[in-house]
Amino acid sequence: MSPSATPGSAYPVDRIREDFPILREEVRGHRIAYLDNAASSQKPLSVLDAVEDVYHHGYANIHRGVHVLAERATAHYERSRRRMAAFIGSGSADEVIFVRGTTEGLNLAASCLGRHVLREGDEVLLTEMEHHSNIVPWQMVAGPVGARVLAAPVTDAGELDLDAFAALLSDRTRIVSVVHISNALGTVNPVRKIVRMAKERGAYVVVDGAQAAPHHPIRVRELGCDFYALSGHKMYGPSGIGVLWGRRELLEAIPPWQGGGEMIERVRFDRTTYAPPPAKFEAGTPNIAGPVGLAAAADYLEGVGLEAVAAHERTVREYAEERLGDVPGLRILGAADEKAAVVSFVLEDAHPHDLGTVLDHAGVAVRTGHHCAQPLMDRFQVPATVRASFGLYNTTAEVDRLVAGIEAALEIFRP
Ligand code: PLP
Repeated sequence: MSPSATPGSAYPVDRIREDFPILREEVRGHRIAYLDNAASSQKPLSVLDAVEDVYHHGYANIHRGVHVLAERATAHYERSRRRMAAFIGSGSADEVIFVRGTTEGLNLAASCLGRHVLREGDEVLLTEMEHHSNIVPWQMVAGPVGARVLAAPVTDAGELDLDAFAALLSDRTRIVSVVHISNALGTVNPVRKIVRMAKERGAYVVVDGAQAAPHHPIRVRELGCDFYALSGHKMYGPSGIGVLWGRRELLEAIPPWQGGGEMIERVRFDRTTYAPPPAKFEAGTPNIAGPVGLAAAADYLEGVGLEAVAAHERTVREYAEERLGDVPGLRILGAADEKAAVVSFVLEDAHPHDLGTVLDHAGVAVRTGHHCAQPLMDRFQVPATVRASFGLYNTTAEVDRLVAGIEAALEIFRP
């Protein structure tokens, strides 16, 4: 059972931490302080149990079998699809395609939508803060047809420059693809506004929701976008499973993704017809237990309450920004008005990788590097940052350990 955070009562972080056995691990003689949630989050017992239960009681290949285990596995798989449809505010489970994660979801959207609409001279408009998985797939589909990929700039505060974005939108813009929450800066983009602006130009809109799913309620229908991608492993679910949501009419219109079993209606050597969505986009044997774990993660998150999670993470992040702001020579990148659970920073006297290694010796796990956002690093003229990213189980005491670790590192690195 997940502990619920009832409005008005204190956020039950201690009880939540008990649900995550890995948080009791000792690393190099210290209790782990896991501040790398934007890369991947840890899993509660309910998710571990749900996955194990599939293999103990209900595992077989899905859809094709007539025996009991196949029926059980199919029922669990399809129930998980309905659960995820509700989690993201989709009207229909048929709009939920199970994919490996956000990367696969964005590749599917780029390939299928791109082949459907992009022609020579067309433009795909992105932003400077995109993850590589929302850049490279568009380049791969645009290049061969002579379409261009453009990026709207980011301000010094790490926000999307909406005036520049508006100026780049034109009748040539066929697709806009934007990140909902930046993994490198924490910036929350005004997706609803972006969708409205893009739709006025008749463009399709794809949203990378990898970092949004663990922190904010997602209502895809209200956002008005055409596709929305997320990863299970970032929202306390298993790795190797995610969701690409697509508008039904569009899923029917675009070509399929991979060819193979399950995605067909009838195969002949002269002509094949395809199954309706979502099967049309799920060729082959899928990850069978993954969706069940993902649905359990959605239950867990909603059990705690996404509003309560967001409020708690805001407290932890603002505390981190305040404490880190006092460290001499430390510069935080990204000061957006709307920000999620990420603090990215550089230190004058230490390379991010060296700092990350010293912190690891203190049991504090952070990420260092370009965070798969090299164009954004170029924008801020840094090769890499240190990123502390928070989840629903993190505490201000762990932030204190981060700061103490940085101060100890400065003793070593400062000339
Ligand atoms: N988009 C963003 C904003 C991300 O943070 C990530 C992962 O870090 C991805 C896309 C890719 O997600 P995945 O590796 O789960 O496919």
